[in-house]
Amino acid sequence: MDARDRTVILLGAGASSASAHCLPVMKGFFQEACGIKPTPELKTGLEWLYGRETQPEDMNLEEVIAFLDMSEQHREGATFKELDATDHLVRLRRELDRFLRRRLTVESPWHSLDPHSVGYGQTPRKFGDSLHSALFDAHLRRDNDTFRINTLVTLNYDLVADYALRCLETWRSWRRSGGVLPSRMELQAILRGTRRSPEHWDANTTPPGWYLKLHGSLDWVSCLNPACPHGRRCFSVEFDRQPGHDDWYGVGVLPADYNQSLPCVCGHAYRLVIVPPTYAKRYEGMPMIEREWRLAVQQLQGAKRVIVVGVSFAPSDVRLAWLVRYGLLGASADGIQIDLVYRCQDNADPMEHDVYARARALVPHATIRPFPNGLRAYLESEGLLEQWNKRSADA
Ligand SMILES: [Zn+2]
Repeated sequence: MDARDRTVILLGAGASSASAHCLPVMKGFFQEACGIKPTPELKTGLEWLYGRETQPEDMNLEEVIAFLDMSEQHREGATFKELDATDHLVRLRRELDRFLRRRLTVESPWHSLDPHSVGYGQTPRKFGDSLHSALFDAHLRRDNDTFRINTLVTLNYDLVADYALRCLETWRSWRRSGGVLPSRMELQAILRGTRRSPEHWDANTTPPGWYLKLHGSLDWVSCLNPACPHGRRCFSVEFDRQPGHDDWYGVGVLPADYNQSLPCVCGHAYRLVIVPPTYAKRYEGMPMIEREWRLAVQQLQGAKRVIVVGVSFAPSDVRLAWLVRYGLLGASADGIQIDLVYRCQDNADPMEHDVYARARALVPHATIRPFPNGLRAYLESEGLLEQWNKRSADA
């Protein structure tokens, strides 16, 4: 591995909940908020799973997805009787996907434009979430003098970071210095198989950093039928909309026949591509998720600074713990700096806070700077919010 030379930003649910949008964290996900509450069907399913005594604030989304995912795997070898008895779990999963879409959808910055022209090249009329924009503009912008290959990794399903990043990537100030390399959102489409690599792209090309969504995304759909003519591509309903032919990338668009309420041309249903943080993850049908994890490891192995925002390092997330350990250990790991941004709910000493202790245990040799007052306070203390306000005012 080459010398550590880059910054990796790692976002968890706490980052989205710090944004201007009304987004929940995993625990308490099913509480009624902002006028959105679970449907009676979903409520009945959650009651079946947790029992009647458990309150919504104690229910955890990742727990529920993990349970349903493992149950689905279990059904593969089940008897007819067992299949019959667990049919309601398949319906519950569909109901959950629908609720996820409703609960996590945020307004697109392209809202007032023709939805079919969002694509990759259209300039929005405003920027995405200001906290995310400030963080990304400081660390992911490509400057003329310092060629930045920093990477953004997220564990979130929502599109808060996607919108903020895409808005910046279409902004003139970013494009000017970007040259001819594809943007991080375009690279992500290449990973998902909906765009082709540029023709001048070869083994010696250094990608300009990545945007990796390790748990999938609310706007990703895929047909899991191995014999499907759409292959195993994973389409973004939100961004793979550029119709027709693209000189640079070839044709890489949402299939013209795509419709959320209809099955794929092959007859199978499209699946929302989201995966829970369990180590029983099923990647065989979703190779792009495996590619994203592989790249995340490589990027962490090249990181000298990691900015972690709103990640709880829950003990159940075994694969994330592995990723952070594996990526940040080794001979070259001394002197890695981790900015740990979280919200300390009580008045405990930040050094004693659970999240800090868990991060400390994962990477004992790293220098960890704790920022227990959340993302906004972190950006303010680093001077990044002021810098962003100035830059975006000139736009
Ligand atoms: Zn299909």
